[in-house]
Amino acid sequence: MVRVLAMFACVVCALCLQACRGTQERCTMQPRAEWAIVLHGGAGVIDKDTPPERVREYTDSLARALAVGIEMLESGRPALDAVEAVVMTLEDDEKFNAGRGAVFTAEGRNELDASIMDGATLRCGAVAGVTTVKNPVRLARRVMERTRHVLLSREGAEAFADSLGPDIARVEPSYFFTTRRWRVLEEVLKERGEPMPPLPKGASLSAGDAPPATQSVRDTRNATFGTVGCVALDRSGNLAAATSTGGMSGKRWARIGDSPIIGAGNYANNASCAVSGTGTGEEFIRHGVARDISDRMLYKGVSLNQAAREVVHGVLRPDDGGIIAVSRSGEIAMVFNSDGMFRAAADSTGRLEVGIWERPEMQSSGAR
Ligand code: ASP
Repeated sequence: MVRVLAMFACVVCALCLQACRGTQERCTMQPRAEWAIVLHGGAGVIDKDTPPERVREYTDSLARALAVGIEMLESGRPALDAVEAVVMTLEDDEKFNAGRGAVFTAEGRNELDASIMDGATLRCGAVAGVTTVKNPVRLARRVMERTRHVLLSREGAEAFADSLGPDIARVEPSYFFTTRRWRVLEEVLKERGEPMPPLPKGASLSAGDAPPATQSVRDTRNATFGTVGCVALDRSGNLAAATSTGGMSGKRWARIGDSPIIGAGNYANNASCAVSGTGTGEEFIRHGVARDISDRMLYKGVSLNQAAREVVHGVLRPDDGGIIAVSRSGEIAMVFNSDGMFRAAADSTGRLEVGIWERPEMQSSGAR
C-alpha cells in the first residue's frame, strides 16, 4: 500500500497530460490497460472552502481504498473480489454514507442498501434496509452466490444473514452511529418542521465533531449524499461493480434508493462496461441510469465517456449526481453534474488520480 501511495509522487507524463487535458477520458496515446479500477465516495454539494486538512482526510481515505483494489488487481485477483474489498473498506470508514457513518432515517435508524454485479455472468445480488450487517456489500455478494434471488430486504435479509453464521459480521445498530450524521438529521427534520427521534440505544453524542464535507446547511438535500461504489476490470477481462449506501438523510417509509437496484445505481456487463452511481436515487431508478450507459455503448456503438456524458448531462437533471464506470477496454469515466464527486482511479498503464471537484486533486500518469 505504501508503494501505491508513493506513486502519487511520480513525475506526470507531460505529453499525455497535454493530449488528455480537460477531457477526463482515457488517453489514446497510452497502451490499453490490462486492469483498471475506479471508486467514488458520493457526489453533491462539497464546499470548496472546506479546510485543506479536511480535504486531505478525504483524499487519504479515497487513496487508501484505491490501494486495496490496485494490489488485488495487480496480483491477478478477480474484479469481483476487488470491488467487494474496496467497498468494504469505504463502508468501514465513517466519513462516507455507507456502513459506519451512514445517514439516519426520520426515526433515527441506519437502514443500509448495497448491491454487487459480476459482468462475466450477469449474476447479481442486493440487500435493502439492513440494520445489523457490518458490511452490506458482503451480504449482497452472498445473495448472488447462495440464493436464486437478486434482492432481499429488511427482516428477510437479516434472517438470511443469520443463516450464514460468522461469514457475515453482525453489529449492534449503534455501531453505525456518528454525531456528524445525527447533526445532519437535525437539520433535515428542522427544515421539515418535524421532531427529532430519541438517540439510538447505546449511542452517545460527541462534542465538536465536524460536519461531513458534503454537508451544507444551505441545502440539506445534498447533505445526505456520500454513497460509495467501485467498478473494476481485471486481467482476465472481467468487469464488476459494487455500490453501498445509507440512502438519504431523513428517509421514511422504508424508502429504498437506486444503490441496490440493478440497472439503476449499479450494473456490470462484460460486453460493455461496469457502472456505479451516486446521487438522487429516485432519478437514477426512473432513468435506469447504469443500464442506460451500458445500452448506449452496445446499441449506439459510442465510447464509454460519450455514453456517460449523454446520460449524466442529457438525461439526469443538474445536481442529480454522477457515475463512475470502466469499459471492457479499460476506458475510465467519472462524470458528474453536481459541484463535486469524491473519486479515485487507477489502471495498469500508470494512471492514478484522486479527485473531488472538477480537476483531480492528485494525479500521475505513465509511471508504472
Ligand atoms: N443514491 C443514493 C440513494 O438515493 C444516495 C447517494 O448516492 O448518496 O439512496
